[in-house]
Amino acid sequence: MQELDARADQLRHQRATLPEINEIATLQGKRTDVENLARDARIVVDDLAVEQQKVDVDVEAVRARRTRDRDRMDQGLVSNPKDLERMQHELESLERRISSLEDDELDLMEKLEEAQAELTKLEAMVAEADEQIAALSATRDEKLAGLDEELARVSAERGPAVDGLPADLLALYDRLREQKGGVGAAELRARQCTGCRLSIDASELGRIRGLAEDEVVRCEECQRILVRTAESGL
Ligand SMILES: [Zn+2]
Repeated sequence: MQELDARADQLRHQRATLPEINEIATLQGKRTDVENLARDARIVVDDLAVEQQKVDVDVEAVRARRTRDRDRMDQGLVSNPKDLERMQHELESLERRISSLEDDELDLMEKLEEAQAELTKLEAMVAEADEQIAALSATRDEKLAGLDEELARVSAERGPAVDGLPADLLALYDRLREQKGGVGAAELRARQCTGCRLSIDASELGRIRGLAEDEVVRCEECQRILVRTAESGL
């Protein structure tokens, strides 16, 4: 039974310390960092797109005004020399404005392309992390299922050994197992506790010899339950 319990402890330990658990946690941390960067990049892309749209509208408005001025001049609607001169100035100013806005458009287009490329890269990294996490989760779940299966088998094997043992004795055994590094009961062999390796003195041996078979014997030194056998030297 002790071997089965040790095996169960080992399985539970393996269950809690699967390397995939740490790897997933690390990856999830990295994914969160990249996702935050991607969110920032998305904001940059959106802002640039809004800005670009605004410049597009502006440049269209200035071009429309240039067309209207030109049409009026072409149609001979401006005849006064003073008005003509003013119109000429305005057209020059409109040209400069259009040229400046077109520069802005090009500049924004470049920035938007860069920002979009950065966003695409970050989104690919998030997707890659998601894939890795999914693969690790699948491996982890597979291993957990295997360990649980073996734990169930160990527990089923332990069942018959435990059957018929008093509940308080089992509770004592479990408590000792927890306190004594997984070994709650030790064989009394050749007048020695195999738990702590100390010899039992003659008077204690005499006392044990006089006890009923179903009486629980404890090592005076390490408190473990002593299991009497033919090799106990009693
Ligand atoms: Zn002992």
